[in-house]
Amino acid sequence: GFKSKVAVVGSGNWGSVAAKLIASNTLKLNSFHDEVRMWVFEETLQTGEKLTDVINKTNENVKYLPGIKLGKNVVADPNLDDTVRDANMLVFVTPHQFMEGICKRLAGKVRGEVEAISLIKGMEVKTEGPCMISNLISEQLRINCSVLMGANIANEIAVEKFSEATVGYRDNREIAEQWVKLFSTPYFMVTPVQDVEGVELCGTLKNIVTIAAGFVDGLDMGNNTKAAIMRIGLREMRAFSKLLFSSVRDSTFFESCGVADVITTCLGGRNRKVAEAFARNGGKRSFDELEAEMLQGQKLQGVSTAREVSEVLSHRGWLELFPLFTTVHEICIGSLPPSAIVEYSEKKPRLS
Ligand code: NAD
Ligand code: 13P
Repeated sequence: GFKSKVAVVGSGNWGSVAAKLIASNTLKLNSFHDEVRMWVFEETLQTGEKLTDVINKTNENVKYLPGIKLGKNVVADPNLDDTVRDANMLVFVTPHQFMEGICKRLAGKVRGEVEAISLIKGMEVKTEGPCMISNLISEQLRINCSVLMGANIANEIAVEKFSEATVGYRDNREIAEQWVKLFSTPYFMVTPVQDVEGVELCGTLKNIVTIAAGFVDGLDMGNNTKAAIMRIGLREMRAFSKLLFSSVRDSTFFESCGVADVITTCLGGRNRKVAEAFARNGGKRSFDELEAEMLQGQKLQGVSTAREVSEVLSHRGWLELFPLFTTVHEICIGSLPPSAIVEYSEKKPRLS
């Protein structure tokens, strides 16, 4: 019978773990080809070797996920067109800021019957308004795009510690089941939800909340304050999502992609870590500088998401409805001190 062929576009920290999860399943399941081709944004390592060559030789992404075997059936490929050519299931997992360029390069090169899924937390803001990454993929490549989000710190899943995730799909339940099958393992439990916008907005917006939690840590304000920030953040996430898409469901916020992702990344994520350092330095060192120094090439999504969401809020006249989102952005750009995170998030008008 027909066998699906999977390609992964992206190979950072989460991208590499996603390839490992998928590759363990394509080996076991008859309905998939064993090989998983993974696109690598090529770079030369300090040793002078090409990253793709090292991945293919050692079966490890030594730069973005050192110490973890990806599975022999993962093939690193520096050529984007070749990576996707024969695939009928495309998994997109790069930092969100690179997706416009990637979609432009792929436009017209992907057949209509191909299915996509985005693991990317972020959005683009165009003159017409906000555009979720799954939507960018759908529109530019003319294919359907589901999403997978959740409480998924990549390094923990890499060592097979149990976690849950949420697949958001538009209307085809069978396609959602295919994705669930491709990703599920005994330590990675995936639940499908028919709310693609809600799931993707959860994953995207929680990165702003996480930055706020990092500020709280950097100011040594304690657990109660951090819990307050998470609560206010979740309310703003829900309110913003519903203003953008009236179809978004309350129940989505209780899935892994919602409250669970807020909690795990406010406790252990990269956005949190760098925001803590930003606050400890009194905002005197920029996020770009701290990111480069602390993350070895990995990328933050929260700072740009705060800017993108602020643009939407200001265009629509909603700024004062979202004190936490707005304050995070103003702190990131240096208009407010880190301590404003509590003063402003609490004292400005509340959402109902
Ligand atoms: P990452 O943060 O490790 O980013 C590094 C990747 O970006 C590398 O593969 C690098 O080659 C690539 N890159 C750098 N410059 C590039 C360019 N100009 N064009 C294309 N690619 C370039 O990436 P990640 O952790 O895999 O994150 C991808 C997405 O997954 C993000 O939206 C993130 O929010 C989300 N996510 C991450 C985690 C996690 O724990 N890491 C968990 C869940 C979701
Ligand atoms: P960070 O990018 O802040 O590490 O968050 C990762 C994540 O989204 C886990 O679900």
